[in-house]
Amino acid sequence: RAKARGRDRSERFDEEMRAEAMRLLDLEADLRRAIQRDAFEPYFQPIVRLSDGAVVGHEALLRWRHELHGSLPPSEFIRVCEDSGLIEQVDWLLYRKVVAWMGRSPEGYVSINVSPRHFHAEDFAERLLRIADDAGVDPRRLRIEITEGALLDDAPRAARILNTLRGHGVLALLDDFGTGFSALSYLHRFPIQALKIDQSFVAGLVGETHAESLALVRAILALAGTLGIDTIGEGVETEQQRQLLADLGCAYGQGYLFGRPAPPVEGRGAGRRPSRVSGKSS
Ligand code: C2E
Ligand code: MG
Ligand code: MG
Ligand code: MG
Repeated sequence: RAKARGRDRSERFDEEMRAEAMRLLDLEADLRRAIQRDAFEPYFQPIVRLSDGAVVGHEALLRWRHELHGSLPPSEFIRVCEDSGLIEQVDWLLYRKVVAWMGRSPEGYVSINVSPRHFHAEDFAERLLRIADDAGVDPRRLRIEITEGALLDDAPRAARILNTLRGHGVLALLDDFGTGFSALSYLHRFPIQALKIDQSFVAGLVGETHAESLALVRAILALAGTLGIDTIGEGVETEQQRQLLADLGCAYGQGYLFGRPAPPVEGRGAGRRPSRVSGKSS
């Protein structure tokens, strides 16, 4: 009997595996169609100076305008994009829209997210500089967000890419800092402009994990200070978190407290209403 039950279980497992594979296949086919339909668009979320709330830039965040499910965030499909290699196509479609928007919004910087594998692709830096140039956008207004993993995958190569970009004024932000390897010894080897303190630590600043999160955030801020690197707190949702971060010496922040990711608005700032004249991108 035990054996029979065991077989049941393994059959059930097979079935689940098949269903999961089918779901992923479906998603991949959906993604290919979405690329054809040009169904990806950037949302923008403000990055602010914590001392006075001034908007200094925006992060561009990928959204999939899905026929059935509406606007989908990357958590639903980014893994499949990365595993299937579609991420590069999706990212380039998105980056083009980002620089087009920048051309119409003459203030502040915009940071774009780059998957590790994409970052290491042949001619990533050249291509990025070219699309900025094609759109007539000053590359100094463009920043890239990468994770620690992307740097350590192939450190010499990563340093070369970052130096090429840096040479043209494209600065690099280290995303989700604190969740990866955080081997402090590597940081000084790369031209990193800012660390983005992962939202889990910012969320942890209040509540049960208060002491640990506080210690971690302090350590990150001290490290950044020593290396002359800027800091951006991610996922700031409450005034209490903003105040704490500011008091600890974190200069910038991003999160629902200041503004949710939103479809492009024409002109500067996050508060403007979409223009009807050039509403092509929204
Ligand atoms: P990320 O780069 O760390 O982006 C921050 C995520 O936190 C975003 O999720 C954003 O919507 C969310 N967020 C912002 N403020 C708050 C807040 O106050 N509270 C909470 N709970 N969440 C907040 P999103 O847009 O779902 O993106 C998820 C991840 O997908 C990003 O994490 C990034 O790693 C990746 N991603 C986003 N856009 C792109 C893209 O264009 N290309 C690539 N390759 N990856 C992207
Ligand atoms: Mg990011
Ligand atoms: Mg992040
Ligand atoms: Mg993240």
